Amino acid sequence: MSDLNGVMDDWENPQKILIVLAHPDDPEFFCGASIARWTQAGHIVEYCLLTCGDKGTKDRTINSTDLCGIRQNEQRAAAAVIGVQTVRFLSYEDGYLIPSLALRKDITRVIRQMQPDILVTCDPTTLYVGGTRLNHPDHRAAGQAAIDAVFPAARDHLNFVELWRDESLEPHVVREVWVCGTQQPNITLDVTDTWEIKIRALFEHKSQIGDPDQLAGRMRNRRTPESSQENPRYEESFRRLILG
Ligand SMILES: [Zn+2]
Repeated sequence: MSDLNGVMDDWENPQKILIVLAHPDDPEFFCGASIARWTQAGHIVEYCLLTCGDKGTKDRTINSTDLCGIRQNEQRAAAAVIGVQTVRFLSYEDGYLIPSLALRKDITRVIRQMQPDILVTCDPTTLYVGGTRLNHPDHRAAGQAAIDAVFPAARDHLNFVELWRDESLEPHVVREVWVCGTQQPNITLDVTDTWEIKIRALFEHKSQIGDPDQLAGRMRNRRTPESSQENPRYEESFRRLILG
């Protein structure tokens, strides 16, 4: 299950955890039960969403500006269900995200402001999943930019020197990176206890999920193969990188 010799998310002290992902609903879909587990354990979690998901609709009567506002509100409500109070949006345009230096700098700024112990993002190398699903290019861009911001940009004061010189933002070392949406996980958390919280948080993304009962059914079906319908177990997996 893990090649980290049984090490799980058993940090001794409360950690500051920064989630950097592309779209509203990514935190909940990708790793919402783990985030709920962390907030329940007393860790401080903040979200940084790089776009507001302003293209995520098939409704031809709604424009991107209105959709952006709807999705930001949905994201704040979902975060609150999970126990996350702080949600930042970097206002990049949905669908067009690239791992530019501007994006890397903006994430570096957030890292230096929050000074997280742990950064969670998604795997930039996941191009497709199984035989039926392409990964969204924004997800790949988000993961690439976030990882590049951790190292070396956040760590070294001469990287984006203006952050240090003009904004008084000290360099910061992120101790661990947790990568979700990866095909090479090395850690799997049992998130059975918080799976229903994940589902309740997903319900807040009303513009995205369609019929909530169907969604709940699909999510409850994602139990581990060896568990039963009467006693389901749920897991979320990551690539955990311990940097320092
Ligand atoms: Zn997404």
